[in-house]
Formats: sequence, C-alpha cells, structure tokens
Amino acid sequence: MQEVLTTGRYFRKHYGCNVYKTPISILGFTCPNIDGSVAYGGCVFCENESFSPNLGVQKNINKFYLNPKSKENPFLDSQLLQLESQYKQTKKILEKKFNAQKFLVYFQSFTNTYAPFSTLKSLYDRALSFEDVIGLSIGTRTDSIEKQTLEYLAEKSKTKEIWVEYGIQSVYDETLKRINRGHSVKNVFEYIQLTRQYGIKVCAHLIFGLPGENQSMMLESVKAAIDLGVEAIKIHPLYVVKRTALANDYNAGNFTPISEDEYIDTLVKALKMIPKGMMVQRVSAGISDETLLSPNWCNNKHQQMYNIKKNLKENGLYY
Ligand code: SF4
Repeated sequence: MQEVLTTGRYFRKHYGCNVYKTPISILGFTCPNIDGSVAYGGCVFCENESFSPNLGVQKNINKFYLNPKSKENPFLDSQLLQLESQYKQTKKILEKKFNAQKFLVYFQSFTNTYAPFSTLKSLYDRALSFEDVIGLSIGTRTDSIEKQTLEYLAEKSKTKEIWVEYGIQSVYDETLKRINRGHSVKNVFEYIQLTRQYGIKVCAHLIFGLPGENQSMMLESVKAAIDLGVEAIKIHPLYVVKRTALANDYNAGNFTPISEDEYIDTLVKALKMIPKGMMVQRVSAGISDETLLSPNWCNNKHQQMYNIKKNLKENGLYY
C-alpha cells in the first residue's frame, strides 16, 4: 500500500504535531479577472461567496476593492481586525475539533497578492505575529504577484513555513480561454519557476472536469505540475454553482460535469504519478447547500471523501 503524503502527515513529520490551515477572507481584496484589469466576470465557475464561508458574515458591510494601483488603503485597520478575529475564531474551532496545535494562516479568497505591497506586508506581518502561527499559505494567480512580494516572502521563508498557492487549473490554453481565466499557460510556467527560484514553496491547484477536457488532458496537467517541481498539489472536481457563467452553460445544456467514476479513476491515475515527498493537500470538493446545481455527488463532502478513500485503497493508495 502506497501512503499518500497528505497535509496532516507532512506537517506531523516536520513539526511533530497537528498543524491546520485557518482560512481567511479579507474584505477589499478582489481579482484582476473580476475588476476588469485582465477580464470581467471572473473564471466561469467563480462565485466567491460559495467558496468562502467567512465572507458570509461580512456581506452587509459596504464593499470596497483594492488593487496594486490603489494609492491608499483607508480600510487597513478594519482588514487587520478581520484577520485577527477570523484567525482566533477558526483557531478555537480547530483546537476543539481536531486537537490542532499549530497553524498556517491561509489567505484563501480572491487574489491575495493583488493589493498594494504596503497592505500585503501589514497583513502578512500581522498574521505571522499571531500565537501558534508557523507560517502562511497565500492563494493567488501567477499573473498577480510582484517581485517585491516574492522578495518579502523569500526572506520570511528563511524562518517560517511560507507557501504560495497558484491556480494552474489546466495546462491547455484553449481550456484557460474557455473558462475565462485571463492568463496563459506560459505565464503559469514562468511564475511558478520564478517563485521556486526564490525558494518559496508552491502548491499547485488543478481542476478535473473542466469544459472540453478529457482524462488524458487532465493527467497532462498533473504531469506538468510535477515537472515544474511544485512541492504540493490540490486536485478537485469542477462543480456548478448558481450565479456563475458556468451555471448558464449548464442550464443551456452546454456543459456536463464530470461523473464520480471518471473523477475517481482520473484521481487514482494522477496520485500514482505523484513522486514521493510531494504533498497532496486536497483531493475533493463540494458544497452542501442549495447553491449547488450539479453534480449531485458533490453535495455531500463526507460521502464524497468516503468514496474517494475507499476507491484509492482498492487501488493500493492509502489517503
Ligand atoms: S482567479 Fe480565483 S478569484 Fe479570480 S475569478 Fe478566478 S476563481 Fe475567481
């Protein structure tokens, strides 16, 4: 039986305790694919509040948006307060539920390097100062990270656990165009290589079941991520939520989500390709509320994970 290096196993091995990520959603962050810098509307599947439960509690606060060209940030104090309160709240839950002992502050929603550097530095520095925090995990796009930010993160990497999470999604330009990704595969390769040259750990996100993709294309994207030398990977199925462009395609009969069987079969093949020592941070995704349109097998994360683990085990993989 081949043991998959999950997040829990990786951190227990390196820190000798339970390390968990605390997801953070900072109001004011946006994405160049939403604010019009590279495109409007975002990726066809993106409805950020569906993916970011912490945004829900902030819905009633007036929205404002920052991008790297913003000259000032009058809301920085409020962003720092949000960061602290979300961290403390999630930390408490994870300690109680999973006996979590150390934490990575996970900047999850939107594009978390897409803001003036002074704002990023204040937020990252504050996050690193919290009790029991060993590092950061920063979700972003390869077209939205400045050299100044990479230099800062490289410096922090010398003493902290610093991860940048890039959405690759697919290494096919025609797919990226179809999902309105707003950047090219070339840009993905260039910035992942650059980030790794700075000595910063990279986690690559891939989606299985993107429009127009077959299994060999999905596995080619996995192979490309491995060839880039990323330290970790996240894989999940594409599901359709309401209020997205993908929902319109689905309702018009122009998109069919991946089946559970095909997803698991592709996942087994993908995990067998992963080299020893490369972390697999995630293999599932779903949403258990009325915003999910399809597929149904993504509406119960526990059942989905149970089926995935069972199938992986039958194929010699211990997740
Ligand atoms: S890059 Fe992320 S935040 Fe931006 S539109 Fe795509 S999914 Fe949404």
